[in-house]
Amino acid sequence: MTRPALLSLDEALPQLLAHAKPLSGVQRVSTFEADGRVLAQDVTAGLQVPPQDNSSMDGYAVRASDCLQAGALLRVTQRIPAGTQGAPLGVGEAARIFTGAPIPEGADAVVMQEDCEPMEPSYVKVLKPTPAGQWIRRSGEDVTLGSKVLLTGDRLTPASLGLAASIGMAQLHVAARPRVALFSTGDELVMPGDVAPQDMAAGSIYNSNRFFLRAMLQRLGCKVTDLGIVPDQREATVQALRDAAAGHDLVLTSGGVSVGEEDHIKPAVQALGTLNLWQLAIKPGKPFAYGQVNRADPTAGVCHFMGLPGNPVSSFVTFLLLVRPFVLALQGLKNTDITRTAQTANFDWLRADKRREFLRVKRNAQGGLDLFANQSSGVLTSAVWGDGVVDNPAGQTIAKGDTVQFISFAEWLS
Ligand code: AMP
Ligand code: MG
Repeated sequence: MTRPALLSLDEALPQLLAHAKPLSGVQRVSTFEADGRVLAQDVTAGLQVPPQDNSSMDGYAVRASDCLQAGALLRVTQRIPAGTQGAPLGVGEAARIFTGAPIPEGADAVVMQEDCEPMEPSYVKVLKPTPAGQWIRRSGEDVTLGSKVLLTGDRLTPASLGLAASIGMAQLHVAARPRVALFSTGDELVMPGDVAPQDMAAGSIYNSNRFFLRAMLQRLGCKVTDLGIVPDQREATVQALRDAAAGHDLVLTSGGVSVGEEDHIKPAVQALGTLNLWQLAIKPGKPFAYGQVNRADPTAGVCHFMGLPGNPVSSFVTFLLLVRPFVLALQGLKNTDITRTAQTANFDWLRADKRREFLRVKRNAQGGLDLFANQSSGVLTSAVWGDGVVDNPAGQTIAKGDTVQFISFAEWLS
């Protein structure tokens, strides 16, 4: 049997994403519930932030022209706490003012209280010369009226929820959640909780992929239907796929995507639609399938299919490389790229591989990257110990001190 040529990730990813047309359907959700969702409508400011010039200090609002020299004595005529509006300030007057309170008309500077000496009964001595504009936060310095503060296709973060709230948005229009059916293949798999470790039959292993795949999908805004473990049988696989395709946008599986006799994913998807089985030039990873499953109702369109390898770290890494951008693109995310930063290797990697490698590493206190000793695709400990991967080009060795490209799990898993 001839081996199919390996496909590079840079070729595969655009081909894959070309299929990820944003799903129709927009949801209006409470801003509280919108973290991690993708905006389906621009957010335009209906007011300025801050709405008025206000004090950035506790102190006294003054006219700078009254305080050209140190030691100016001003009469304190009013008190303006945050949330109240003061009266116009006359020549020779000061207003006791607190952080966030609007600057009264006539005032053009704030003197912090540490630079003042209150004089009984109602005077204040300003100890330093005061430039106009001092300690004033200008209206609109954060957001100007009519500006777009968040754009369609942005993924919302806690900070963006706060920004939306600052212009009065209690609700946001976000893309619909992709409906994803998840199932694992493999007759060797048993579920934690169903079988105790001491009762495991020879050859059994626990289904670990199901746990991280479900969690990662949920973090990416997907609504997951977990179909559990499907037996390694052609008919059962076809049946599971057909059922799942009806009410989902994507069926995601792990295992069974090689072309061995016990790998039933390929013929099952082909029986119901189309399949591209790729041998990707990545490590861990390699076998990966993308296809489309026809729905029983032909007017209902097709359901996407993605098949991940069974080895846990391969499954984990191919999910992040391919499924993550895909499900974000289904939500209309503008930019699905992941950040790579230049870091220094604190290890040697002497065995160049013909595949592009994603090595599990951890940042150390000296600003370098340490390598997890066992990079096998079955060793999930590497992904727990590590806080990211080095994206190492095919055919490249690494020597201690070399600059390498690092992808942080903190961003990749968000
Ligand atoms: P496969 O891709 O089905 O040939 O599986 C490759 C390897 O991954 C085998 O050693 C499987 O036992 C293991 N594997 C497959 N699925 C899972 C899973 N859900 N959890 C843990 N290991 C798995
Ligand atoms: Mg299998």
